[in-house]
Amino acid sequence: MGCGTSKVLPEPPNDVHLDLVKKVEPYTGYKTDIYKHFIKGDGDAIKSAIPSPPCHTNPYVEQQEPRKNRVAKYRAKFDPRVTAKYDIKALIGRGSFSRVVRVEHKATKQPYAIKLIETKYREGREVCESELCVLRRVRHTNIIQLIEVFETQERVYMVMELATGGELFDRIIAKGSFTERDATRVLQMVLDGVKYLHTLGITHRDLKPENLLYYHPGMDSKIMITDFGLASARKKGDDCLMKTTCGTPEYIAPEILIRKPYTNSVDMWALGVISYILLSGTMPFEDDNRTRLYRQILKGKYSYSGEPWPSVSNLAKDFIDHLLTVDPSDRMTALQALKHPWVVSMAASSSMKNLHRSISQNLLKRASSRCQSTKSAQSTRSSRSTKSNKSRRVRERELRELNLRYQQQYNG
Ligand code: ADP
Ligand code: MG
Repeated sequence: MGCGTSKVLPEPPNDVHLDLVKKVEPYTGYKTDIYKHFIKGDGDAIKSAIPSPPCHTNPYVEQQEPRKNRVAKYRAKFDPRVTAKYDIKALIGRGSFSRVVRVEHKATKQPYAIKLIETKYREGREVCESELCVLRRVRHTNIIQLIEVFETQERVYMVMELATGGELFDRIIAKGSFTERDATRVLQMVLDGVKYLHTLGITHRDLKPENLLYYHPGMDSKIMITDFGLASARKKGDDCLMKTTCGTPEYIAPEILIRKPYTNSVDMWALGVISYILLSGTMPFEDDNRTRLYRQILKGKYSYSGEPWPSVSNLAKDFIDHLLTVDPSDRMTALQALKHPWVVSMAASSSMKNLHRSISQNLLKRASSRCQSTKSAQSTRSSRSTKSNKSRRVRERELRELNLRYQQQYNG
């Protein structure tokens, strides 16, 4: 979502100095953002038809390559030890250095996912090390489970639980209805997983809707955090400060941009961005120009103008405001977020309102605006205003009153 890139460390803006620690040029074909569904139709169909990454070829031409050849091509990338144990079924995901395939365990017929990471290059090796280091340590219902690992000189194959319910936004669109209650349910699961990670001294550093997968297609499916390629695990005796500049531009916390040593609260900022998207289908910080995007982030400049924001409760906005707080020491922790009245109550007055129509419209609008000229896109963006202090004060007062009411109810 956003600029259609993942794990990119872009050019630093003029007024901000960045370390270009990980610059990754992702495949800019189909699997770039959640709007792919509106642009090219069914996501799964596209995902399973994605060919090997085109180097200098037109992806549209390469897509016409016979399916048999394509399947043979990616099967050939699997070590015989892997194929002796698992049947390779279909390509289900593609990342910067990785391919994810659905497989079936030959003996038990159990389905799994295998993430194949190319470790020929330093970046691939680093991503792989981070991911394995974390996945080997964690066991939580909202975090994808590592089953086993195969390593060769050039590749690592991680056998993982298979999540068949699709990415977070695919579900929102497919579900046909979306309420604040739905949003808090999703966030509660993600926050549970993040709280667990933070307790272990692990910071994900790349939380975004593409990395949140539903376990199964059913309505009651849990959600699972995946992709620990940028995660940082604190070692014994370490302070909890991190310095590496990394992440996905639209989700990067301000303290990372100014190269301040930072903590796990960068994940909470990303959760603020995700919450904003969940409720509106729009990004809080967005600009094709990275310098302007970073300026917005550094100022914490976002607004609640346009649909569906008038229908969104003040409690929900308060929740977002306490995550998209520029000063990390004022930002909610995962535990505080789980205790926020919006998450706890799940049914504040307007929370059952169906926001789906506005969200879909925003997604569609965005998809079509991507085809328009930069000039008109810029004028739309410049008309966006900062949230007004007045409305924030009103919300804060309402929240205080609500909190008081909750406390009275709770005590009495
Ligand atoms: P990268 O680090 O390259 O971004 P990811 O781990 O995010 O790789 O995987 C890329 C995509 O593959 C994900 O966005 C998701 O659609 C799919 N995917 C990853 N892991 C699984 C899994 N365990 N089950 C199902 N799909 C998965
Ligand atoms: Mg990913």
